[in-house]
Amino acid sequence: MILNDGYKHCSLKINNTLGLNINTRFLFVAKNRETILKAWRFSKFLKLPFLTLGEASNVLFLEDFNGVIVLNRIKGIKISENHKIWKLHVGAGENWHCFVKKMLTKGIFGLENLAWIPGTVGSVPIQNIGAYGVELKDFCSYVDVMHLRNGSIKRIYSDECNFSYRDSIFKNKYWTDFVIVAVGISLEKKWQPILTYKDLKYLNPISAWDIFNEIFIIRKRKLPDPKIIGNAGSFFKNPIVTQKKATLLLEYFPAMPHYPFINNQIKLAGAWLIEQCNLKNLYVGDSAVYHKQALVLINKGHATPQDILCLAKEIRIRVGRQFDVWLEPEVRFIKSTGECNAIEMIS
Ligand SMILES: Cc1cc2nc3c(=O)[nH]c(=O)nc-3n(C[C@H](O)[C@H](O)[C@H](O)COP(=O)(O)OP(=O)(O)OC[C@H]3O[C@@H](n4cnc5c(N)ncnc54)[C@H](O)[C@@H]3O)c2cc1C
Repeated sequence: MILNDGYKHCSLKINNTLGLNINTRFLFVAKNRETILKAWRFSKFLKLPFLTLGEASNVLFLEDFNGVIVLNRIKGIKISENHKIWKLHVGAGENWHCFVKKMLTKGIFGLENLAWIPGTVGSVPIQNIGAYGVELKDFCSYVDVMHLRNGSIKRIYSDECNFSYRDSIFKNKYWTDFVIVAVGISLEKKWQPILTYKDLKYLNPISAWDIFNEIFIIRKRKLPDPKIIGNAGSFFKNPIVTQKKATLLLEYFPAMPHYPFINNQIKLAGAWLIEQCNLKNLYVGDSAVYHKQALVLINKGHATPQDILCLAKEIRIRVGRQFDVWLEPEVRFIKSTGECNAIEMIS
């Protein structure tokens, strides 16, 4: 089999937001479905692992990838409407933030709370991205997945996606042998601002652009820009605990932030737990806890995957010992052979 539109032995340093010095054996940049299928067949032919990526803003490579990576760059935005709703069909390789901004420019509002999140459109349903009081599930109407074995497309409607906090059906049933190729989004024409998040409550919005701009300010204050400081956003999920567990913790730590969650559960603030363990200045090698937001782990320049892994392990152990709450990574861990169990890797 001849490699026409792929690359051999490629560095991924500029293709992962943690900025880790990682290589892949083969890399394809797919602007259409055919290239994805070609890359997948190529991997099967060579009996190598296969991985689809967007902008690698939610992954931790633990070592060089000994297989075929395809970067999804399928573009295209189709807009249709009825008297109540904007219907958007978006190619999986569109940059999410650019898409959100483009819609606002066209007067199509609703996604502004999710602006400035790095990554591609194809990745947003996988962990049901969320920020500032909204989640993707609030707007997603369907996800188109391509079956790699035969190239067929299946449309998964929102109610079948099993969306929950940083989770969806795309992390299990539609994980291996499937690639997301498009996402359908519905937005009400009658725009309603969502200001439930504490830092937005005092905003008196004139337009969706005010929220968009405010969110830029909030994010800039709290999160490092991956172009300057390598990071993958929140490294850990905010832990979800039972009501009983939360009540017990609150007896010992009355100031502990806690928020009601579905099924009578309670969501805790992972960053607060880390701070209470005095881990804000913790570092291993060139990786460190970000001083403005403790859920974020950063690469100060020359961090290795092992630095980040050790740091994450240490945080999980110390928080676990103090609170008996065991943090779980939000970031996906990738070994040379493919994705591995992130919790096991830091336990
Ligand atoms: C500074 C910063 C801020 C962030 N803020 C937020 C935030 O507020 N909220 C939030 O939810 N997340 C946030 N994130 C995390 C991240 O941006 C999102 O998870 C984003 O959706 C990941 O997109 P990506 O294209 O980079 O995915 P990648 O990291 O490339 O991939 C993530 C996973 O999805 C798989 N995948 C990617 N594309 C496809 C596809 N087309 N088909 C099938 N599988 C695929 C990959 O194999 C991988 O397992 C932040 C990250 C950074 C760096």
